[in-house]
Amino acid sequence: PLTQASLDAYWMPFTANRQFKQAPRLLARADRMHFWTPEGRPVLDGIAGLWCVNAGHARPRIVQAIQAQAAELDFAPPFNMGHPLAFELAGRLVEIAPKGLNKVFYTNSGSESVETALKMAIAYHRARGEGQRTRLIGRERGYHGVNFGGISVGGMVANRKMFGTLLTGVDHLRHTHDPRNLFSPGQPEHGADLADDLERLVALHDASTIAAVIVEPVAGSTGVLLPPKGYLERLRALCDKHGILLIFDEVITGFGRLGSPFAATHFGVTPDLMTTAKGLTNGTVPMGAVFTTQKIHDTFMTGPEHVIEFFHGYTYSGHPLACAAAIATLDTYAEEGLLTRAATMAEPFGAAARAMRELPNVVDVRTMGLVAGIELAPLDGQPGARAFKVFLDCWERGVLVRTTGDTVALSPPLIIEPEHVDQIFKTLTEAIRSAA
Ligand code: PMP
Repeated sequence: PLTQASLDAYWMPFTANRQFKQAPRLLARADRMHFWTPEGRPVLDGIAGLWCVNAGHARPRIVQAIQAQAAELDFAPPFNMGHPLAFELAGRLVEIAPKGLNKVFYTNSGSESVETALKMAIAYHRARGEGQRTRLIGRERGYHGVNFGGISVGGMVANRKMFGTLLTGVDHLRHTHDPRNLFSPGQPEHGADLADDLERLVALHDASTIAAVIVEPVAGSTGVLLPPKGYLERLRALCDKHGILLIFDEVITGFGRLGSPFAATHFGVTPDLMTTAKGLTNGTVPMGAVFTTQKIHDTFMTGPEHVIEFFHGYTYSGHPLACAAAIATLDTYAEEGLLTRAATMAEPFGAAARAMRELPNVVDVRTMGLVAGIELAPLDGQPGARAFKVFLDCWERGVLVRTTGDTVALSPPLIIEPEHVDQIFKTLTEAIRSAA
């Protein structure tokens, strides 16, 4: 059993978080929509673990696939060889991918997918004799993981500042969160104008030096920020105009979160590269994947300078356990219609989320598919304090939510039923009221 001594000695091996050693929130077991604490208390999962357990927890088909694979082939080196499941999975992924993204590269996480996509973009231009195209453009309030590339293109200013020297030649588009849109129903209209911010950076640096633009179609970890109407379309058009590659980071939006397999399919805008992870294996064995086009793949694999092959591959790329988990996950999504279920559940879920606007201290509610952000006013002038209080209260009341700054984020498993929607928002209502 866990002792206070080991908590004191080893806190906190998951993240660098030093808070709450005296009252750790521990999870011991999970099934479908719930976690259980070591004391046996159920907690309804309002965030799909960490935006990843899309089919719900401990699904027997996925569990069995992992167990069977561990006994059959526990590891296969990914260099100069492979194993059949990796190819089967790639084919299955391409079947549901946005049309045209028919090449897949495996990674082990969202952060690794981002690094891989950024490198691919640069490798592509180099192979075409445009080696000067190395600049990368992210967006303020974007989140792309914790590795150097992802932090550099990411829009969390505190993270960028912390490391001083990051990637050089990185710029950021204005973020999409416009306070004028607070309480606006659905997507506000000024997307195309906002995307024109890319022209500012093109004018500053010359398009011929820019390799790629990376954005989350819907920003998740920085507070569920929806793209205004026309935004992604205009970004696509501007990237085409200037020969810049467009990368969608779909680590959260991928695998059904918005009611379509990917945000790209939801919005009808296809990027040149697409990063995924999380829902790919339903949060089980760590795995990510980068999708790209035949053309980009062929260019950096067989460019004019044959030495410029794209150097990619991790020890655990396409790990057999991860591939088995992913295939069983895709089977589960297909059999239960989960990749489009958020389209149906968006109605009751979104209505319940928007009803939070009537509560005290709710500043804004943003929701689409099965994701929502409820933004609260700071508490006593302290940013994030009220949202964190609500998070703690929800945990005590048996619902797991997530906070990011002043926003309480919800992203439940896609198997959510109306009674779970009721419980989540009833609990949240009580918690927000008592944080007044
Ligand atoms: N990109 C996005 C959009 C994410 O939301 C995340 C994780 N929340 C990442 C990248 C990083 O993924 P990971 O934590 O698996 O490295």
